Amino acid sequence: MIKPVIAGNWKMNKKVNEAIELVKNLKTLVEGINQVDIIVCPPFTSLYPVSEIIKGTNIQLGGQNCYLKESGAYTGEIAPQMLLDVGCQWTIIGHSERRQYFNETDSLLNQKLKYVVETGLKIMFCVGETLDEREGNQTESVLRRQIIEGLRDLTADQLKSVVIAYEPVWAIGTGKNATKEQAQEAHAFIRSLIEREFGKSTAENIPIQYGGSVKPENAQELISQPDVNGFLVGGASLKADSFAQIIKACL
Ligand code: PEP
Repeated sequence: MIKPVIAGNWKMNKKVNEAIELVKNLKTLVEGINQVDIIVCPPFTSLYPVSEIIKGTNIQLGGQNCYLKESGAYTGEIAPQMLLDVGCQWTIIGHSERRQYFNETDSLLNQKLKYVVETGLKIMFCVGETLDEREGNQTESVLRRQIIEGLRDLTADQLKSVVIAYEPVWAIGTGKNATKEQAQEAHAFIRSLIEREFGKSTAENIPIQYGGSVKPENAQELISQPDVNGFLVGGASLKADSFAQIIKACL
């Protein structure tokens, strides 16, 4: 049985005082819940203050992105070691918004994964097809490319620090989630790819999160699918109450 991993991706939302308020409320609402991993991914500016509040609790901290160097002349970038330094255990890599707006390619993401996995941070690696790709029957070929190229040259041992987030781009921030059947089909396909590339045991143990308009109303039916092992939540993680309801739906 894979322990569900439920992460809130706050994206470019919440100033420091708002982030503090949100995580304080969340801390109270999810106190004592240890059957699932709970992660919040605030913007970089709020990581440190949030880490101070969640110290010693069941809430873990993640970055939304990072670079593939420890330090140096990379203006605007953040090193994985800096995320660790402020208390992160996790980072997201390859969110579709990074791929779409910041031109992050499969090859760059592969370099990031290979670097970051060696730093001790755990990774939520995002994959998913656009609406055009789904309507053009390309979902499987896109997922195959993103998984094979993104995870190229990683070892089965390194995959123990990686969670896959299946996030169909057409479902992100649109209010239109994948149906439980669509999610299950894509997750099972991703698991079969992992089995082919990294073996049965890796495939059986790797959590595959679903992301795309997850809400308290749809969380339970999505998590009830055999290959859905958690969520990466955007909009609904910006309110403590709705994020806590999603977490509780996974218990
Ligand atoms: C996301 O950004 O990862 C996401 C899934 O967003 P939303 O839940 O708002 O669709």
